Amino acid sequence: MSSGSGSLMWFRKGLRIHDNPALEYASKGSKFLYPVFVIDPHYMKPDPEAFSPGSSKAGLNRIQFLLESLRDLDLNLKRLGSRLLVLKGEPSEVLIRCLKEWDVKKLCFEYDTEPYYQALDVKVKSYASTAGIEIYSPVSHTLFNPADIIRKNGGKPPLSYQSFLKLAGEPSWVSSPLSITLSSLPPVGNTGNCNISEVPTVEELGYEETQQDELCPFRGGETEALKRLRESIENKEWVAKFEKPKGDPSAFLKPATTVLSPYLKFGCLSSRYFYICLKDLYKNVKMHTVPPVSLAGQLLWRDFFYTVAFGTPSFDQMRGNKICKQIPWNDDEELLVAWREARTGFPWIDAIMIQLRKWGWMHHLARHCVACFLTRGDLFVHWEKGRDVFERLLIDSDWAINNGNWLWLSCSSFFYQYNRIYSPISFGKKYDPNGDYIRHFLPVLKDMPKEYIYEPWTAPLSIQNKAKCIIGRDYPKPVVAHDSANKDCRRRMAEAYALNQKMSGMVSAEDLRNLR
Ligand code: FAD
Repeated sequence: MSSGSGSLMWFRKGLRIHDNPALEYASKGSKFLYPVFVIDPHYMKPDPEAFSPGSSKAGLNRIQFLLESLRDLDLNLKRLGSRLLVLKGEPSEVLIRCLKEWDVKKLCFEYDTEPYYQALDVKVKSYASTAGIEIYSPVSHTLFNPADIIRKNGGKPPLSYQSFLKLAGEPSWVSSPLSITLSSLPPVGNTGNCNISEVPTVEELGYEETQQDELCPFRGGETEALKRLRESIENKEWVAKFEKPKGDPSAFLKPATTVLSPYLKFGCLSSRYFYICLKDLYKNVKMHTVPPVSLAGQLLWRDFFYTVAFGTPSFDQMRGNKICKQIPWNDDEELLVAWREARTGFPWIDAIMIQLRKWGWMHHLARHCVACFLTRGDLFVHWEKGRDVFERLLIDSDWAINNGNWLWLSCSSFFYQYNRIYSPISFGKKYDPNGDYIRHFLPVLKDMPKEYIYEPWTAPLSIQNKAKCIIGRDYPKPVVAHDSANKDCRRRMAEAYALNQKMSGMVSAEDLRNLR
């Protein structure tokens, strides 16, 4: 049995001081506190083969955002008399080494539903319990405990938002105050021979500095998250009238939504604190929107996807995933690369993909457009391939939400109206007839007259010359003809749906391909 007098707080997500029950418990009654973050090579190993700077799992923007969040956490811990201990290596091995070396009686960390963390946690918990170390691992990343919802639903995750809402009800903690502030923390104990470092820079992690002409405008960290939250809810009317999916996906100078997703992803912002702020605001306005379209409704979408993801084996793939339609997607590397590298020849689609690469964030409807285009709309490429690109490049990349939305947009699960598509030409035009968004992210088209900016291949050569952009030379011709490509996609979706229904989900995409 451990006789220690210290606690180890293992930060993974939950990179915050406010509403952090694991940190609060770790600090209570402990002589020493070891606040640890482990730099995990699984996410951080530089990959020279990757299609843009970063590791094979995480693009440079997200790594940068994480390091900023860690620096901010370190500063906030220092204000409370502590500091962040950064270590490197396979997290379970590093943690077990620390537990062996340090005087620890309590191990505290936020519960994580992602399969990757679940597997790590099994190893760490198994060591801690044999060593007699108390484990405290509360659910605080989401509004609800996904396991509770699944239990209430007879062991199965609810597959619609409305049924999720019915099961969830109002969270139990809404009426009792959350622990928002800690006034001090126990000092850090002796760290012995463990290899502790400061929060590294991207260069120290082995990445080369990149010469980007436009950098991600969002800075990581709890301080920035709380500031952004305050600014978002300051405008009570805006919050009260918030209605998604209304909102302009092309607004980039002032995005139409909160851009709190990267802060929620890393837990720099507590979703529960966000939810309570919204509830307080709703009490003080005459009228407000409600789920699914309200801002609080967006947080509930987040919890919905977390719950389904937690309760669905193989949620992140088509094969073996019971809630996913089996569709014989094309394996067309050329089309995938054209989409990924913003070379489809459809300016609306390419501008969104450039925003993804440069900022790591795009509006929800912009994500809809490119996901629909890649899969059931035009290219008929597998949703898993698009998911991988988003997973790497988004700064808010989130395992449950990203997979859930790709399943949705590809009409593989949740949403099945495959005839309803986003036109790569007319959808963006509705919001931004002048094409300012395209001109910003695709400067090669900045002088194209507005009549042609969404379909530059239709511009006469004289206009292309004047705009200094020859289609096929300076900017690509469309990779597909939208009308015929979409017709073909619809036909193939109809065939796949019919077969899925006939064979009641027992058919694999391979079988479908063989039947064709
Ligand atoms: P707001 O509208 O201000 O909403 C507030 C918060 O609610 C968001 O920060 C987010 O945490 C949550 N939320 C909003 N919309 C959704 C949604 N549809 N599903 C679940 N939660 C939601 N969001 C991610 O956080 N990570 C992802 O990896 C991700 N991948 C996506 C992939 C595709 C193909 C699509 C279509 C959407 C994806 N989304 C993802 C959902 C959504 O687009 C973003 O959460 C949202 O655009 C973030 O901007 P915001 O913070 O301004 O959102």
